[in-house]
Amino acid sequence: MSQHSWLINRTAVLATKHQKEQVIAPLFAREFGVKVIVPANFNSDRFGTFTRDIPRAGNQLEAARHKAEAVLKLTGETLAIASEGAFYPHPSFPFIGCDRELILLLDRANNLEIVGEELSIKSNYNHRYIKSSAEALVFAQEVGFPEHGLVVMSDPYTQKQEEIFKGINQTETLIQIVNYLLQKKSQDTVYLETDMRAMFDPTRMQVIAQATLNLIQKIGQLCPQCSCPGFDLIERKQGLICCWCHTPTNLTLAEIYQCQKCQFQETKMYPQGKKFAEPGNCSYCNP
Ligand SMILES: [Zn+2]
Ligand SMILES: [Zn+2]
Repeated sequence: MSQHSWLINRTAVLATKHQKEQVIAPLFAREFGVKVIVPANFNSDRFGTFTRDIPRAGNQLEAARHKAEAVLKLTGETLAIASEGAFYPHPSFPFIGCDRELILLLDRANNLEIVGEELSIKSNYNHRYIKSSAEALVFAQEVGFPEHGLVVMSDPYTQKQEEIFKGINQTETLIQIVNYLLQKKSQDTVYLETDMRAMFDPTRMQVIAQATLNLIQKIGQLCPQCSCPGFDLIERKQGLICCWCHTPTNLTLAEIYQCQKCQFQETKMYPQGKKFAEPGNCSYCNP
């Protein structure tokens, strides 16, 4: 029996209305023969939008889980895929923005939840206040318009939902809306930002593809004891010791993996391949 027999030839419902199936469906078809379908009447926006008009339902993982559960309820299927992105300063390099894409596979038939992710600094996320349509065009060019779409509004912090213009990917439309808002609101500036929905952001679509590959890898990680898929990292333990003074540092000493079915745990020592930390990472040798 193949290790993926629980998955092969099943149908997975993808909780999206932003065309993420473009990158997710071919990978699942190739790896597992899984047919990915998208329900016609699923509104993923009610779980949160990037344009802040609808707040996200919980954290990134919870939002993806809510979408997966909702799409199973809607279709009566047993296998769902949902993804959720977030844009924020990079955890190690705060001056660089990054895109964290998370993708979740939820299997009701086997009681499994497996999560893949990708953290990428290749993000097109950007925004600017502009004073004229000429400035709008400069910004548009910088962010890869029209392949990457734009959102236009008067001001994101005082804005009503009906006055947000999304999915703009034509120069004429962009100029019209910018001029309309500049005249109508009798204010100096209009706010532009990149439309982060997957179908308007090819850069993000590629990061979603990378996260999907990570999910596929996780599906292939089997529990050494019961062979359940999705044997995954649950904790990192700090304390790699300094090679000079043997004081424990903040660097990772061990990674702990756990099975979600039988709770079997495995500790992988020295996951970075080194048994000691450099003195530069030591608070005693390099205070
Ligand atoms: Zn197990
Ligand atoms: Zn030291």
